[in-house]
Amino acid sequence: MKITNVDVVLVDRPAHSPAFVWRDRLPGSDPAITVGWLVIETDVGITGFATAPRGVILKDYVDRRFRSELIGQDPLQREYLWERAWELDRIERFAPNMAHVVDVALWDIAAKAAQLPVYKLLGGYRESIPAYASTVTYSSIEEFLDIADQCLALGYPAIKLHAFGDAKKDALLCTKLREHVGPDIPLMYDGSAAFDLLDATYLGHALDAAGYLWYEEPMREFSVTAYKWLGERVRVPLLLGEVTDGAHMSAGDFVATGVASALRTSTFLRGGFTGAMRIAHLADAYHLRAEVHGMGLESAHLCMAIKNNTYYESLMWGNPTTREALVDANGLVHGPKGPGVGYENLWNESGVPKGLERFVA
Ligand SMILES: [Mg+2]
Repeated sequence: MKITNVDVVLVDRPAHSPAFVWRDRLPGSDPAITVGWLVIETDVGITGFATAPRGVILKDYVDRRFRSELIGQDPLQREYLWERAWELDRIERFAPNMAHVVDVALWDIAAKAAQLPVYKLLGGYRESIPAYASTVTYSSIEEFLDIADQCLALGYPAIKLHAFGDAKKDALLCTKLREHVGPDIPLMYDGSAAFDLLDATYLGHALDAAGYLWYEEPMREFSVTAYKWLGERVRVPLLLGEVTDGAHMSAGDFVATGVASALRTSTFLRGGFTGAMRIAHLADAYHLRAEVHGMGLESAHLCMAIKNNTYYESLMWGNPTTREALVDANGLVHGPKGPGVGYENLWNESGVPKGLERFVA
């Protein structure tokens, strides 16, 4: 099989509605943006797709680097092409959420050639997994407690907070939420890198006292040493490596220092399906979990393929909030239907992106 064409289809997407924030000051929802759909065509009629939210940047990468790199290559040589992307990254310093968008499209091609959903080709482990409700930041503790009730009523068995980013206020929220839902609902906390070591330590003690399952990214992930020091000060398990660059090569230091109780993995920040699986296997070697970050089809595939992952992350926004389409009334996500990633199934339900109509039967 050979790659014959590589292109990017740009699609305008309106601002997310309703808008939401992370913490009390970070933009959360996207403004109106131009999404990019990467299209990789082959000489056997199979076309691979992947998508990135910064379409104009993706098109620039493809026009200057990836098209000439990929045309004529065998798309099934995913490991080779993954390493080539790192070589190009050395020159370009790709945005981490787009360095390996090509890898996703190559897995889409390989799975279509095998007539399988991607997770089966990765090595299927399960057919369904519980989803946790991952909140955006709401305006008050009272609203958070109301949203928690809504999430449980919608069938979600566990809840993760993206809270205010104020250590004292967040500690109070976490304690109140534990009192509100009782001892048996798994609760997690995501700091979105809001804190320094002192505040992260204060909050970590509160999360431990309230029995939280994990404490995620309380500080920027630039310094593994800072995290090592945090790990020496708190007992709550730390879930790390969501946004650090370099896939398994940076995740390894969080493991080697002993600070991570679990690693983050994803297609869009951790090197496509290939990088995400490398992180999962790295964690598994030390009996650590590799929890899949973020919602959507690609994450659902990873959740079905990674043994040492326990939940699918389902973002909740707005009030009233609603259950996303991939989650059923029992709070479960099921293996996506193939072949491939299954974007075409999504388009059939929600409309084919403009410019991609000719690829859909
Ligand atoms: Mg996170």
